[in-house]
Amino acid sequence: MALRYISTRGRAPALKFEDVLLAGLARDGGLYVPESWPAFTKADLKAMRGLSYAELAARVMQPFVGRSLKQAELLQMCAETYAVFDHAAVAPLRQIGRNQWVMELFHGPTLAFKDFALQLLGRLFDHVLTKRGERVCIVGATSGDTGSAAIEACRGRASLDIVILHPKGRVSDVQRRQMTTVAEPNVHNIAIEGSFDDCQDLVKAMFNDQAFRDSMKLSAVNSINWARIMAQIAYYMAAGVALGAPDRGFTFAVPTGNFGNVFAGYAARKMGLPIDKLVVGSNANDILTRFLSTGAMTMGDVIPTLSPSMDIQVSSNFERLLFLAMGRNGSAVEKLMSGFRADGEYRLSPKPMKAIREMFEGRRFDDAATKAAIKGLYKLTGEIFDPHSAIGVAAGLECHDYKRSVLVSLATAHPAKFPDAIEAAIGQRPALPKRLADLHSRKERYETAPNDLGAVQELIRACVTP
Ligand SMILES: *Cc1c(COP(=O)(O)O)cnc(C)c1O
Repeated sequence: MALRYISTRGRAPALKFEDVLLAGLARDGGLYVPESWPAFTKADLKAMRGLSYAELAARVMQPFVGRSLKQAELLQMCAETYAVFDHAAVAPLRQIGRNQWVMELFHGPTLAFKDFALQLLGRLFDHVLTKRGERVCIVGATSGDTGSAAIEACRGRASLDIVILHPKGRVSDVQRRQMTTVAEPNVHNIAIEGSFDDCQDLVKAMFNDQAFRDSMKLSAVNSINWARIMAQIAYYMAAGVALGAPDRGFTFAVPTGNFGNVFAGYAARKMGLPIDKLVVGSNANDILTRFLSTGAMTMGDVIPTLSPSMDIQVSSNFERLLFLAMGRNGSAVEKLMSGFRADGEYRLSPKPMKAIREMFEGRRFDDAATKAAIKGLYKLTGEIFDPHSAIGVAAGLECHDYKRSVLVSLATAHPAKFPDAIEAAIGQRPALPKRLADLHSRKERYETAPNDLGAVQELIRACVTP
């Protein structure tokens, strides 16, 4: 029996993998989770020792993919996906202390961990759409990192166009150039005269315009897509297997925004990896770490920080954890979420709250603490960590007991993506890796539009053929 996926709000039909891939969000507004967790025994984990990253990733993902891809097809796809990474290990591990390691997830084409999932997603979309003889137009908004990772994953694919909206003048030079210097004709960038929120609202409005949505065959690759979580489970397994699982226990530390990355760690635990703790690092946008200490999820305003990819108030993937902690009760989740929308706050009853606290621990770093962490870690390890990674590594070190478990902190971006923050912390600017060294001399191509739905839709109609 192939694995099916159910919605966290309990009212959308259960779907198989490829429908979940293309749907993203469930029709009842919920997120898809697997109906049951594929499990790896201790022997299964031991048998993964010595596999290449691509082989291991294919083995971890096969049960989720079901019949949508044959085993050999998935293996081939993983081999192609992870061959574009710049390091022989794909996700190399670096020791920084006794039983303390960092896993570098920034050797992909856009230098951030999102490449692990999006590089695979682009290929999965292309595979399923080609098989079905369909074509889609992927639309998204970005404040920086996600847009370039999505574009890099979709460039040149025959079955899709990709349109990314970014706020004009409000993304860094490196981030804009990573998006706008891609030459393939299926890539379209639009600079919106407005803020990131305006861009997001425009995307939402396009999806709510049923006629436009259908005629342009709009689709999304946003962070709630199950396939992104699935691809991220693989590196937790890879770290564990390389460092002695199933014979040793693990703590993972993760700089967290939308809760997608750390939820993949939770999934790895459900599948048999011995994880005793997941450490959530946050910046001044600390809704999650406050929730873990107070038990109240309370929305605030987004504060711009040195770690912009975590400048988020509502962590959308947290709903998946809620669903599991509340005994897979979709209507209870729905009630909680509609209360949250109305009042900007919710509280969990003691039992699910206890279950979450047993697994998760949070630490908060505002910008001053982030700079201090970058500096302190540079002294301690000789490595320069980007602001996101520094928060994860520092949070991990605060929460870890080296006698009890092995700590793996996830480094989610290359420091060269955030040169200003690094310079402010340690007085030097990290250089771009070779693959991006000529970024500033490449030719840019993008359209500009006012913050106006009609104008943006007209632009998209003109450049995309459905
Ligand atoms: C997206 C991102 C994060 C946050 O990851 P989530 O899955 O949203 O929690 C952290 N660091 C970097 C560099 C990112 O790009």
